[in-house]
Amino acid sequence: MKKQTLSQFMAELKQEGFRLNFINTIILTAIFYIGFFVAFPYLITTGISTFEAIYGTGLLFWALFSVTVYMHRLVAHKCSKHIAMPVHIWGNLGSVFALQSDTATWAGRHITHHAKEDTKEDPYSPMRSNNIVVGAMWSHFLTHMFDSPHEGRYDKNSAILHKRHPILRFFARFYVPLLVVQHIALPFAIGYAFLGGFEAGLRLFAIHFCFVALLHQITWTVNSVTHIFGQQMGKCSAKNAWWYFAPMGEGNYHSGHHMFPAHYRNGSPWYIFDPSGWMLWCFEKFGWVGKLNRKPRYEIQSRTLQNYQLYLQNRYPELWADWQLKTEEMRAAFESKVQAFKEASHERTTEAKKEMRIAYKQLLARLNAFNKASQAA
Ligand SMILES: [Zn+2]
Ligand SMILES: [Zn+2]
Repeated sequence: MKKQTLSQFMAELKQEGFRLNFINTIILTAIFYIGFFVAFPYLITTGISTFEAIYGTGLLFWALFSVTVYMHRLVAHKCSKHIAMPVHIWGNLGSVFALQSDTATWAGRHITHHAKEDTKEDPYSPMRSNNIVVGAMWSHFLTHMFDSPHEGRYDKNSAILHKRHPILRFFARFYVPLLVVQHIALPFAIGYAFLGGFEAGLRLFAIHFCFVALLHQITWTVNSVTHIFGQQMGKCSAKNAWWYFAPMGEGNYHSGHHMFPAHYRNGSPWYIFDPSGWMLWCFEKFGWVGKLNRKPRYEIQSRTLQNYQLYLQNRYPELWADWQLKTEEMRAAFESKVQAFKEASHERTTEAKKEMRIAYKQLLARLNAFNKASQAA
């Protein structure tokens, strides 16, 4: 089939009922161009002070973790039933800095991204176009510039979240005034007061927008990069890209995240790079959130292998027959070890764990080999 062009894609969007949101488009485009092509060169040529650098990185990480820890894992995926008020306030103020709509609106869309993976209702699917470049543009930034005909579904999810956390209603109502305070008044006032005068205020304002522009690009890659690059292990386009660290843990193991969205961390065991998961673990220890949702590791591994196998079988059905017998044997061996481990809940030994791990590795290696051989064929 011929690859779709960008203009064909736009025409299709129009036909489906998508409408360009002029305000969003102007704001997002202005941040991108002013942040990267005006503010950034100006600051590089004039030099950044330590105070300015701390302000910029502090802003970046506050906003970034608000998106990953609060908006994403705690609110959209409910990885803990209880969220203390200071965490709500920290997360919502951060969501204003992140400039990607209020928490409930953002989470309402994200819930649909999971519930309707890669369908027309999925707001972020790069599979919307058969041209992966156009799909990448859509999932990365174009989607934020359009009002969708599926807005009703997203709003329903947001309304449920408003009921669950009434404070989200407050922050949604005051979102625009907070934008003005946090993005215009605050950087200017801090620069004016601490760095001395009007020009310092303007400089901090420039730094502010540089880092907001950078933050946009990082958070949006969770919808583009993690659905395009890496190893596909499940039925949807989400991939496991072990090397992609920029979004603080949301980049790697995205396929695993689509399989277990409520599980509080990406990847297992604990030392797999996931600062958002580590932060949640600390929040739990401090009592700032309730008990975190944890899926046992063997359950994650079992489902991952199952989905991976199904994906490969569907993708290369004609090549599967030669590999089936041995793979099924390995699958049976692994599942029996998992079952034995589950049942022996009072006497789980390191020996049983080791056996399960070996069986897992053998099956995974087999599936990876099949994948490689099929790709080469
Ligand atoms: Zn995703
Ligand atoms: Zn998610």
